[in-house]
Amino acid sequence: MARLELKGLTRRFDESRAAVDGIDLAIEDGEFVVLVGPSGCGKSTTLRLVAGLEQPDAGEILVDGRPVQGLEPGARDVAMVFQSYALYPHMSVARNLGFGLRKRGLSKSERAARVAEVADLLELGDLLSRKPAALSGGQRQRVAMGRAIVRDPALFLFDEPLSNLDARLRTQMRTEIKRLARVVSTTCIYVTHDQVEAMTMADRVVVMRDGRIEQAGTPMEVYNRPATRFVAEFLGAPSMAVVPARVSRDGATVSAFGADLDVPEDRRADFAGLAAQTIDLGLRPEDIRLGPSVSAQVEVVEALGVETLIHVVLPDGTRAASRIAPGRAPRTGDRIEVTPDLGRAHIFAPGSGRSLS
Ligand code: ATP
Repeated sequence: MARLELKGLTRRFDESRAAVDGIDLAIEDGEFVVLVGPSGCGKSTTLRLVAGLEQPDAGEILVDGRPVQGLEPGARDVAMVFQSYALYPHMSVARNLGFGLRKRGLSKSERAARVAEVADLLELGDLLSRKPAALSGGQRQRVAMGRAIVRDPALFLFDEPLSNLDARLRTQMRTEIKRLARVVSTTCIYVTHDQVEAMTMADRVVVMRDGRIEQAGTPMEVYNRPATRFVAEFLGAPSMAVVPARVSRDGATVSAFGADLDVPEDRRADFAGLAAQTIDLGLRPEDIRLGPSVSAQVEVVEALGVETLIHVVLPDGTRAASRIAPGRAPRTGDRIEVTPDLGRAHIFAPGSGRSLS
């Protein structure tokens, strides 16, 4: 276990722009932190800096208060799990697992005991004599995890480890990695562009954009109280609908989606402060219900079993999704009415995108 601290961490690949741009982040002992963000936002580079595979141009990386940025990757006591598994194809599972222990001067019997312990933890016992080519994708991923665990590192780093797996296996491995992380209680940094992975696995989600941290918080915090429009739109599927809106002079109504919507009593104070102003109004699919307010044309209906998603076009041309209980769904092409719940709406400043709610 280790506490990790990044201070002003910066990496420039060219003069014009920093890939990692002055990141400050403290990760506690045993914490599972997920770095998430769109392609190119600097997630992998941040992870590679921590691993020692890249050198920072500025800033510090502290493990338990000790600067490590000058140290070779091998001297950092970190283990990295990649999407490509990076297993040795000519070695058995047992030898793949034990390989990292050789350099540490453990005796043969000590190595065998440690490998057996980890194989047990990962339920790999029956596969120890097989070569990687004779394993399924999920089994290879477990061996890659095992190889990291066997070394008992201070820090686990995961770089999109599940992106080569099919959807069902991805869901299964998500739970598995989380379970293992809890058992070994090692500090973990996990990089993904998949917001479902981020939301389901993280103790804390760090949303990155253009080399910077846009927001860090528990999954519920970043989902329910996004600090910016960017975070709001990045997390949640289907995405939050965000539209320009005009608040009335008395703050009692908001004109949005081509309709005048009433502001409920408990949100009057929020909107009164923005009277006669233009804002960006955001509504998640679960906050757009069936009901009389705004006329909507149904474009697509997705019945998912547990819920139904209705994709609609609103009078101002906005496309939005509505998440409803299954069983009473309209059909594609229907003209219906929906009620955006202003009680749960998010308000963003046009331009900066900062949350005002
Ligand atoms: P992805 O999800 O696509 O892997 P990412 O968020 O992990 O993206 P990084 O791989 O960290 O992003 O890349 C951040 C930026 O740095 C990108 O603009 C990328 O093109 C650039 N970059 C990364 N590695 C190098 C390199 N070795 N040389 C030059 N530019 C690089």
